[in-house]
Amino acid sequence: MNRPPTAAGAGLIACEVCDTLARARRDPHVSQYCPRCGARLFSRIPHSLQKTWALLIAAMLLYVPANTLPVMSIVYLGKGEPSTILEGVMQLIQEGMWPLALIVFVASIFVPLLKMLALLALLISVHLRSSWRPADRTRFYRVTEFIGRWSMVDIFVIAILASLVQFGALADIEPGAGSVSFAAVVVATMFAAHSFDPRLIWDHAGE
Ligand SMILES: [Zn+2]
Repeated sequence: MNRPPTAAGAGLIACEVCDTLARARRDPHVSQYCPRCGARLFSRIPHSLQKTWALLIAAMLLYVPANTLPVMSIVYLGKGEPSTILEGVMQLIQEGMWPLALIVFVASIFVPLLKMLALLALLISVHLRSSWRPADRTRFYRVTEFIGRWSMVDIFVIAILASLVQFGALADIEPGAGSVSFAAVVVATMFAAHSFDPRLIWDHAGE
């Protein structure tokens, strides 16, 4: 199969900032800088796999307290107990707030889990030096990075909940310890997706 030429294959590095092509040094451990703009040059994100693994494992561990510790107390008509994300979803359903329950479930439970599983699959495929459908896996990576942004929907959910409090539909909402873990999961998966270098998918394509 005839492959299009790549910068790395030609012994060149493209600057991520100004796109200048520079000749790659022999020793990859010596830092190299762009002759034109001075940015650090690397043909692949340095230690991409290690960084992604570390952040992914951290996110997976934090996902446990994020879902088992109470994230909020919805005090309704004077009564209310601290509840986890899933219990919060159940409460919202009981109050008849179906759309809100669905948004919280998708953004807080489904999307982070999906994103972690997607990154896990991509990391394993690179470790196995898989040559299986690199274009599809790259698309898969882009989708993973894109859906991660929707975890931020939670901020809107909190805003909606806060406005419901103001309108008197709910009495009070207090944040719980789980919300810190939850925020950490969102941040860790975001950085994990960012540190993964999709060019690694192509390094073993067509071998
Ligand atoms: Zn440059």
